[in-house]
Amino acid sequence: MHAAHMIHTDVVVIGAGPVGLFQVFQLGLLGIDAHVVDVLPEAGGQCIALYPDKPIYDVPGIPHCTGRELASLLLKQASPFLGIDTLNQDSPRLHLGHQVESVTPRAGIEPGFTLTTHQQLTFNCKAVMVAAGAGAFVPRTLNLPGLEGASNLHYHLDDDLLARLAGQHVVISGGGEEAVGAAIELASMGAAHKAARITLLHRRDQFQVDADLAERLNALIQAGDIEVTVGMPTDCHRADGVIHSLALLTPDSTTVDLPLDHLLVRQGMSPKLGPLANWGLPLERKQVPVSSATFESDVPRIFAVGDINTYPGKKRLLLCGFHEATLAAHAASTILRPDTPQHLLYTTTSPLLHERLGVKRSS
Ligand SMILES: Cc1cc2nc3c(=O)[nH]c(=O)nc-3n(C[C@H](O)[C@H](O)[C@H](O)COP(=O)(O)OP(=O)(O)OC[C@H]3O[C@@H](n4cnc5c(N)ncnc54)[C@H](O)[C@@H]3O)c2cc1C
Repeated sequence: MHAAHMIHTDVVVIGAGPVGLFQVFQLGLLGIDAHVVDVLPEAGGQCIALYPDKPIYDVPGIPHCTGRELASLLLKQASPFLGIDTLNQDSPRLHLGHQVESVTPRAGIEPGFTLTTHQQLTFNCKAVMVAAGAGAFVPRTLNLPGLEGASNLHYHLDDDLLARLAGQHVVISGGGEEAVGAAIELASMGAAHKAARITLLHRRDQFQVDADLAERLNALIQAGDIEVTVGMPTDCHRADGVIHSLALLTPDSTTVDLPLDHLLVRQGMSPKLGPLANWGLPLERKQVPVSSATFESDVPRIFAVGDINTYPGKKRLLLCGFHEATLAAHAASTILRPDTPQHLLYTTTSPLLHERLGVKRSS
């Protein structure tokens, strides 16, 4: 994206986790234009990054669903306001893979903010909704000097990468679902797209996966489609920006060399407060104090919803985040449109809301 690319909108929602997605929906119902930004390549926040296949039982009206299913439903619900009809997450208003770096107040007739991402996207907006959870999700790294920035080091297994791995020796580092799932996905590719060799690298020969995944992994190991190497990476051999091998300390305390074409690190994600700490927002134990009536922070026009905020009685639950997003949208509407009457409308009966949702009017 070119540095000069500037997006003008009413509101920027920072974080496309469950609460950020519902925030977009609530703003959309009120006719407020919003863009949403997330550093992850996929929308859904913790639901996708931490528990995609685990069940959730306490979302009202949904007896149970997995993290991935909830993220998908929330994305579908917000899609009329994201400019997407399908769930391919390709939307002009959903900016994935972008970390918001700075939030700077902007002087002018109407106050607002300029936001920049580290991939050089810039937004001009009138209000900001921080739905940043515990911070930006970043992959856990191997912590080896010289590793970062190599052209064959990867953390996400997307379609582009899958295409590049055909015929290559791919080393996948990690011992949980993310690493084992990636190895199985890679090993299950059709002949034309298959990697030449897949090595699962873990410090132990036990993997922390459920019985189904363990069975599939064992079958692929038996078939010779996946190899397992036990060892702790201690160094890497890198030349011309490419990692050629990892030095491993094995359980019998010898050091061996593991050559590779591509290294995929799948050791889970951890949230980092990161740039949020520099946006001038007062923080209390890494959370943003807000009014429990409006969810506005101490900085006018910056709201905080979901796990990132704190107020008396706060509970870090999805249901609470959805409530907060609803009230924050109404509070923002009052600020952004002071001259417009703020009537409460029902999605069941309001023709205006049906029009905004793009649904046919009910009888
Ligand atoms: C294992 C587990 C199980 C859970 N089970 C339940 C349950 O059963 N019921 C329940 O109600 N709750 C449950 N929760 C809690 C629930 O997942 C959280 O309350 C919810 O995810 C909070 O949503 P959020 O949108 O506020 O934050 P998150 O889900 O954390 O999303 C925040 C998003 O913001 C992004 N972000 C942050 N900073 C930036 C930045 N600077 N730039 C760009 N993007 C940024 C992050 O990458 C992330 O995607 C569970 C949590 C865990 C960990």
